[in-house]
Amino acid sequence: MALDNSLRNDAQGKSLENAQTQDMRFICLRPFNDDQGEVGSVLSLRLGGYIELSTVDWHDHLTFMLFLAGCNFACPYCQNSRLIPLDSGTETDLDSVEQLVLKGRRFLDSIGFSGGEPTLQPEAVAELSRRAKLRGLESFLNTNGSRPAILQTLFDERLVDHVAIDVKAPLEAGIYGAIVGRPAHGAQIIEAVKESIRATLDRGISLELRTTVVPGLIGSKEDIERIVSSLPVGDYRYILQQFVPSPDVLDPSLAKVEPASQGSLVQLARGAVSVGLKAVYVRTRELGVKKVNAS
Ligand code: SF4
Repeated sequence: MALDNSLRNDAQGKSLENAQTQDMRFICLRPFNDDQGEVGSVLSLRLGGYIELSTVDWHDHLTFMLFLAGCNFACPYCQNSRLIPLDSGTETDLDSVEQLVLKGRRFLDSIGFSGGEPTLQPEAVAELSRRAKLRGLESFLNTNGSRPAILQTLFDERLVDHVAIDVKAPLEAGIYGAIVGRPAHGAQIIEAVKESIRATLDRGISLELRTTVVPGLIGSKEDIERIVSSLPVGDYRYILQQFVPSPDVLDPSLAKVEPASQGSLVQLARGAVSVGLKAVYVRTRELGVKKVNAS
């Protein structure tokens, strides 16, 4: 997930330093058993930043968004590449994060986790979701879909109410692996993404699938047709979102890319509607999120 600052006109991004207190407690406990690298610990997490109040990350919700550091992908268009290294961000205790959320509690109805890839810090996500639920908040997870076992664990405890999964490219091993900067693992990643989607649908959890349109890299008419044709039938939103370059983009050659226009995104979205998807949206800097119907 890239934190696209250009799309955040409703919220105040905060630096990590603001998320810390003088009285930090770092206690390292057991992470989830898994074969992939994980960061953080059960009473602390590696935090890259937060937004106190977001109206754009989860539709119809007022969400406190946390951006967890560390990612297992290296998408060339990543707009928040400083959060890719597993040792990026700053270790922050969960009590401090909880206090930040509680400060704005009366304006919020949910807490959200993005990144980086938040499933790399599963115990922190689980514990903060538990605490949020005790306060009557719902929970949202924005993931690259690479860790379905973690999703299942969170679902088992009913800790997630809404999931956004990136579908970054046509589900073909060579293309997907290249687009996420993991060329040797395309097939494995695709299976994981499919399983994540299936698991979310099977549990009846609110789901949206997101594709970022990066002109010249991903998002041609053919790309979108191939992505859409491989998506399962189900009750979910599909969102085509505009890539807007930031100075932080991982591949500097993409820093000057002209974003796709609203019109071209709408055309792509109409193509998705025409093959049978029922809830197709575009997200742009200019207009926010807009539903697209057949022409
Ligand atoms: S590398 Fe890819 S998956 Fe990871 S944070 Fe960046 S855009 Fe998201």
